[in-house]
Amino acid sequence: MESAYEAIIIGGGPAGASTAILLAQAGWSVALVEKRRFPRRKVCGECIAATNLPLLDALGVGAAFAHLAGPELRRIGVFAGARIVTAELPRFRDSRYPWGRALSREYLDDLLLQRAAEAGACVWQPWVAREIGRDCGRYHCRVQSLDSGERRALVAPILVAAHGSWEPGPWADTQARRRPGDLFAFKANFLDCDLDPGLLPVLAFPGGYGGMVVADHGRVTMACCIRRDVMHRCRGPQPRGKAAECVQEYLQESCFGVRRALSGAKRKGVWLTAGPIRPGIRAPWRKDGVYMAGNAAGEAHPIIGEGISMAIQGACLLCEQLMSHRAELLSGRAIRGAGQEYAIRWRKSFAARIRAAALLANLAMRPYAAAPLLPLLQRWPTVLTRTARLSGKVRPLVTQSTMARTLGACRP
Ligand SMILES: Cc1cc2nc3c(=O)[nH]c(=O)nc-3n(C[C@H](O)[C@H](O)[C@H](O)COP(=O)(O)OP(=O)(O)OC[C@H]3O[C@@H](n4cnc5c(N)ncnc54)[C@H](O)[C@@H]3O)c2cc1C
Repeated sequence: MESAYEAIIIGGGPAGASTAILLAQAGWSVALVEKRRFPRRKVCGECIAATNLPLLDALGVGAAFAHLAGPELRRIGVFAGARIVTAELPRFRDSRYPWGRALSREYLDDLLLQRAAEAGACVWQPWVAREIGRDCGRYHCRVQSLDSGERRALVAPILVAAHGSWEPGPWADTQARRRPGDLFAFKANFLDCDLDPGLLPVLAFPGGYGGMVVADHGRVTMACCIRRDVMHRCRGPQPRGKAAECVQEYLQESCFGVRRALSGAKRKGVWLTAGPIRPGIRAPWRKDGVYMAGNAAGEAHPIIGEGISMAIQGACLLCEQLMSHRAELLSGRAIRGAGQEYAIRWRKSFAARIRAAALLANLAMRPYAAAPLLPLLQRWPTVLTRTARLSGKVRPLVTQSTMARTLGACRP
């Protein structure tokens, strides 16, 4: 049986849910397919930069975010070896939201997805998109319920792939070869940590990097990326399930700041792992006409904690594009022009940020390269403040008024 829509979105993370909210609010008929049941935990540092807070308002989840999120993040730091360096985070010019905050993904993603359903998107969950085909100018997305096994076909002239990047999507060409330099990501939550609320330290250690933050309900989120070869070395002969515990030991040995923060802490829940993580620009628009959003379009090394920003802001760029070409796209025309324009805008907005993140990640993972810089940072901590500014923390690519304009201009 077929169900027809104007747009199908695969993936209900921040990119997919934001796209669904914006399109549904503008009167489009939208199907969003998400394979996991929410709320669900997810590997992520969970920091939301201040530039996104006005956008969360425009998406209709700002008040709930403000109610739930952890303390304002006013300081940035580096925990590397025995050193702890801290500095002011730059302030965002919006006086309502000068600082970012952290909120667990089990809350954030659930808020956004519920909002998409309220806005009128038809949410298929827990359903998985298994296969994509194209015929007579329409995409056919074969989906399957993970509860009952039932299979259905969704059809639409527009397909947005927002399925993230850490697991194979519904494409045959997403399997990549294993490489020793691949990164694997880990995340855990802790209670009773000795970490200043409002401090956002970057953890720098040989073969990886990470971050810690006080998020909602006093929970500390610790997340990191570590090279495959280093992970194997620190795991030694341990059985598979112990990899995360070995990574935690390695972080504690490598960074005094982590050791101190976790000295009396209790872990809440299990360690989560994901990967391989392969940051870089993929194709924001595929030659078969599919629009990519969020991590599926491209991904910055998580050292800058900007992935959620890029997912939400990228969704707005995409929706602006789709809405301004609505009539042609729905009739199967202008597909190439609109897709290429979106890809250019996406690259212009995020390529510099992705490159800056790669530079910082490579420095953090190589102690011999970072070592001479640490005494300098200790002496001139404002360099850290400037680096945070460069990583995009206070530079909005999409503003609340752009988002409002997009929505206002595109109502049917
Ligand atoms: C260690 C680490 C720390 C990070 N810290 C931060 C941080 O502090 N701040 C920040 O902004 N970003 C951070 N990030 C990045 C951030 O997590 C991602 O950039 C963000 O989740 C991307 O959102 P997305 O919507 O593109 O994809 P995702 O959040 O991955 O969502 C994709 C969704 O698609 C669903 N899906 C996949 N395949 C299918 C299918 N076939 N059918 C149906 N559904 C499907 C998945 O279940 C998932 O829910 C971090 C990343 C890592 C690895």
